[in-house]
Amino acid sequence: MLPPAVPRPPAHLRVVDPAKARAGAARRRRTGRAESPLARKRRARRINAVLAEAYPYAVAELDFASPYQLLVATVLSAQTTDVRVNSVTPRLFAAYPDPRSLAEADEAEVQEIVRPLGFYRAKTRAVQMLAQKIVDDFDGEVPGRLEDLVTLPGVGRKTANVVLGNAFGVPGLTVDTHFGRLARRFGWSEEEDPVKVERDVAELFEPKDWTDLSQRLVYHGRRICHSQRPACGVCPVADLCPSYGSGPTDAAEAAQLLKYEFAPGREELLDAFMAGRTRAQLQDDGWALSP
Ligand code: SF4
Repeated sequence: MLPPAVPRPPAHLRVVDPAKARAGAARRRRTGRAESPLARKRRARRINAVLAEAYPYAVAELDFASPYQLLVATVLSAQTTDVRVNSVTPRLFAAYPDPRSLAEADEAEVQEIVRPLGFYRAKTRAVQMLAQKIVDDFDGEVPGRLEDLVTLPGVGRKTANVVLGNAFGVPGLTVDTHFGRLARRFGWSEEEDPVKVERDVAELFEPKDWTDLSQRLVYHGRRICHSQRPACGVCPVADLCPSYGSGPTDAAEAAQLLKYEFAPGREELLDAFMAGRTRAQLQDDGWALSP
């Protein structure tokens, strides 16, 4: 009988010599705080460049066609996956195409649509209150300024930055759980408070790079640099990361930990992303875009 095939990392990922990664991590841990601001900035930008090559298709994983849709989808995504949210929003937005129709909708009908997301009563209340406030205070149009967005119920800086960056083209750093964890692992910030992490990381990058960087960190956090067992042995930024070794460094063992389109057995999906197929097109092709 043939031995089981050893999973391999996707071919386009930068391969890092383990000895180089080990030496780099040891050196950075040793020098740690002594890294000069300029050296940290250069290393941060190199990491961003490598992640851009690893995730050339990184866009918001929530499907949307307008600021209203992205705002509602982002609020619905609390405590569930983007994939699950994407499975209910087409029906929701077909029934309620703008804030006014959602605000005036029958509560039980909205609950029925968002039920698969869990916490459906609270989520229905949240999006209807949000829609009502947009109608009352902004004449039914989602505002395009951070200071206005954070006045909406259930909208904090993170959600506001997601909407600004992705639906309005205004640069924003979206510090969610993945972003915060990776910023600390990369040595870009020592803070736990998302607002302080945002401030530290903002100093390392030009504003024009903020939105794409935010997407790439979320992609990297979900696929490779997991909170529990990061796949260090197949990580394309292993030689730039002081936390190399937080997870398995053996390439075969690490490759088993890859998720989403990098997961072993989903090579065709990765090829399709690399060829430029969008998430919506892939769903039409029959792909379930879950891990
Ligand atoms: S997977 Fe490992 S090497 Fe890569 S960024 Fe995360 S901690 Fe660093």
